[in-house]
Amino acid sequence: MVFWAVCEDLWRIISNSFMLPVLIFKVSNVYYNLCKTAVIMPYLDCVAKRALPLLQKNLSDAHFRVTNNCMIAFNNIIEIIFPGRCVVCGSAAELENRFLCGPCCEGVSRLQTPICSCCGNSLFCGREQTESYLCGACLRKKPEFDLARSFFIYKKTVRSLVAGLKYNNDTAVLNGIKELVAACDLREFADCELVLPVPLHGTRLRQRGFNQALHLSRIFFSARRSEIDPFLLTRPIKTVPQTELSGRQRRQNLRNAFAVADPDVVRGKSICLVDDVYTTGTTVNECSRVLRRYSCKTVKVLTLARVNPD
Ligand SMILES: [Zn+2]
Ligand SMILES: [Zn+2]
Repeated sequence: MVFWAVCEDLWRIISNSFMLPVLIFKVSNVYYNLCKTAVIMPYLDCVAKRALPLLQKNLSDAHFRVTNNCMIAFNNIIEIIFPGRCVVCGSAAELENRFLCGPCCEGVSRLQTPICSCCGNSLFCGREQTESYLCGACLRKKPEFDLARSFFIYKKTVRSLVAGLKYNNDTAVLNGIKELVAACDLREFADCELVLPVPLHGTRLRQRGFNQALHLSRIFFSARRSEIDPFLLTRPIKTVPQTELSGRQRRQNLRNAFAVADPDVVRGKSICLVDDVYTTGTTVNECSRVLRRYSCKTVKVLTLARVNPD
């Protein structure tokens, strides 16, 4: 009885004070953020993946079935309490895609073949990709890199993901990118020994707090993290943003902007350069030119998305 009396007193104090709306707001805010990033889900997944084989080994078939069903039920309850939220639009995510909803998944366009064997540009020639083709630009002047590939076309969902990361510092979108990239083919990059994210100038890095190309490198090459070197390629000269410039100005703007910290590491290596978006290719071309100066073996470029010139 004393306990309930204390509770009643406490409730009266809280509800009469201005604290209650603040408290409700705080709790709902924490809950919303938990749902938005679904922080708890990867950990639960990880526990389930480790626990299931152990249980399967040590339990009889009937017991395992019961335990497994209990775990599925537990997972469903967790889904109700912490529903996955789409990192792009905030609506309920799909069960198989915990960080993207159905309409946002449909807004993702993969690059269609045939593509230019060198720069990876879509060719729209209606032929099958049975042999290697070069686009007009690569025929006129061969790029400094050996090949460039992108996973997606830079529009709709992918554009929102990149904008969230670069301009709103929303690293929760990385979960959405991870989901999209999981099914992508990286066979053309199997021979790369070094993965170099395109660097940011120090001032820009301090403003943003992270280099998005490094985050993407870690997603693309999650099983080969030891090959990622974020310090080898540097950007000692501050340049104006490329988006404000024409083709010729872009090239002039980036002249000598990049440098290599230790040329001996680069010599004779197959290198993969990683960036977020391939627009005109000027940035990765300039990075490749600097790497070639130190006699690397090959330079391949991998970007999340590509601006389609249609
Ligand atoms: Zn969505
Ligand atoms: Zn090309």
